[in-house]
Amino acid sequence: MNRRPILLPVTDNFADKLLAWFDDHGRKHLPWQQAINAYRVWVSEIMLQQTQVSTVIPYFERFMAAFPDVQALAAADTDDVLHHWTGLGYYARARNLHRAAQVIVAEQDGRFPQTVEALEALPGIGRSTAGAIVSIACGGRAPILDGNVKRVLARYHAVPGWPGQSTVLNALWEYAETHTPTARVADYTQAIMDLGATVCTRRRPACSLCPLAEGCRARAEGTAENYPGRKPRKTLPERQTAFVLARHPDGTWLLEQRPPSGIWGGLWCFPEVAAPADAAGWCRDALLAEPGTSQPLAAFRHTFSHYHLDITPVLVTLETAGEAVAEGSQRLWYNAVSPPRVGLAAPVARLLEALKTLD
Ligand code: SF4
Repeated sequence: MNRRPILLPVTDNFADKLLAWFDDHGRKHLPWQQAINAYRVWVSEIMLQQTQVSTVIPYFERFMAAFPDVQALAAADTDDVLHHWTGLGYYARARNLHRAAQVIVAEQDGRFPQTVEALEALPGIGRSTAGAIVSIACGGRAPILDGNVKRVLARYHAVPGWPGQSTVLNALWEYAETHTPTARVADYTQAIMDLGATVCTRRRPACSLCPLAEGCRARAEGTAENYPGRKPRKTLPERQTAFVLARHPDGTWLLEQRPPSGIWGGLWCFPEVAAPADAAGWCRDALLAEPGTSQPLAAFRHTFSHYHLDITPVLVTLETAGEAVAEGSQRLWYNAVSPPRVGLAAPVARLLEALKTLD
């Protein structure tokens, strides 16, 4: 890809204004801003994709306590990594982190690549994440373009259109490249992310507090909330499934591990059947267990980016335990009192929490 910047006239001191604002108002006490290194910046950037800072902080701290460096992450069990991701969603991020750590340890002796191109070659690292690692942790100059930065630049330059379209995205990258200074790049990177998160917010941006207000085209036009353009709406297809909530006589719940790819890849989930009426028969056939009562619970909807999944949970109380579940197999009896360290699909985690009130 040609990444030569378009030459915009940078006479508006964009970076200088942002840096002066950052000195007074920027965030400097986030956990990943302490003991900065490429590993910590990388993990924080991946966690922050589609997730708010306040949500990420406790996850980041637990993750760092469990996997303090890239060697520890590379050596961890996938189940343990996914366990530390449970609730954050977008689990491909966790699987890619784990795979990339293994590549860094196996092929690069645990040393992080120092360039955008080399970082982008790792699983799950896109250009913006690579730019953040290079600029914040490696002392290099590289632009970033996460969701916050897209919003600031789209408004400042009144760039029309949805950033999912390549022409819009390319224009924003060119602005990002042009504005990135040659000095204090780490602070600038943090500053533009902070401005998007705290001042140039999605709704009701605080333009009167913004250091960029003077040169901002969207503000001058009074159209800030129109930028960036929204994704064209399309109707998502709907699918139906039923979860078998098989309850062992000892009070534990049967979970199965999903195949590594596809939705909830590698996570643990209740077994699925096509219709609620199939749940008891499934327990008889697949578990060789004798179902007692079988009771459909309230259905709910889980929405993926490409379809809605309507899920009916069916509570099946087993009278006999059926076949023993072998250790290390793709099934386990989940004890909610002393839960195993495994990654759970989000609706499964919610259901297990709700089921605690059953007794
Ligand atoms: S002036 Fe308003 S719209 Fe423009 S960058 Fe600042 S906060 Fe965003």
